[in-house]
Amino acid sequence: MAFLGGLFEKKYCDFCGEKLGLFGNTTLAEGGHICKKCAQQLSPWWSIGKTTSVTDIHEHLMYREENKAKVAEFKVTRTLGDNYKVLFDDEAKRLIITSASDFTKANPDVFDFADVTAATWEIDEDKSEVTTKDNEGKTVSYNPKRYTYRYNFYVTVYVKNPYFGTIKFKVNSSYVSIDPWDEYEAKLAEYNALLRAHRGATPVTGDRYTPNLAENEDYLGYRALCDEIVEALNNK
Ligand SMILES: [Zn+2]
Repeated sequence: MAFLGGLFEKKYCDFCGEKLGLFGNTTLAEGGHICKKCAQQLSPWWSIGKTTSVTDIHEHLMYREENKAKVAEFKVTRTLGDNYKVLFDDEAKRLIITSASDFTKANPDVFDFADVTAATWEIDEDKSEVTTKDNEGKTVSYNPKRYTYRYNFYVTVYVKNPYFGTIKFKVNSSYVSIDPWDEYEAKLAEYNALLRAHRGATPVTGDRYTPNLAENEDYLGYRALCDEIVEALNNK
């Protein structure tokens, strides 16, 4: 069985000494390893890998210990966000970006206002085709093609930090979904019902193919929230 020796050689975490399982640990430079549990103590914004040395991580863990003291001192004066939250301590001029429900337990990185250099936001649109079946039961496209749309909202923050330069987080907790065809049909049905009832009805605008972003409250709400977060980060 010697030929399997290398494959099943027992490996140990360089930080806690625990025997490593098959999954969930990260290989570091020069054959070093960190287990999943120890990796949870690192900043979530720092990505480690085969170019990260065990010494790098020891230094980072010292930075993380110092950060715990800053978290303990942190006094929230303003909160912005939904999924991820930006917490401000306007007196100490520091801020935290976290998705933790209790930030005092998660040791999120505490940044000085001066270390946050800029922030931007973007919306990701992901469209997927809606298909139908032909007479033989084969999946076919509509003509013209029909799509549903999903939107996610991201803020990117540029920071001065020895371990990472950017933080990108999702503002929305679940994606905003728009089905132009269904929405148009619903508006048309409402319009026709009003006509039948001899009530005032304004003709339906738009079409069945273009997402009506200007009337989608969730879309507009998250867009405004992105604006508000970026504005606050850029004008601290
Ligand atoms: Zn470990």
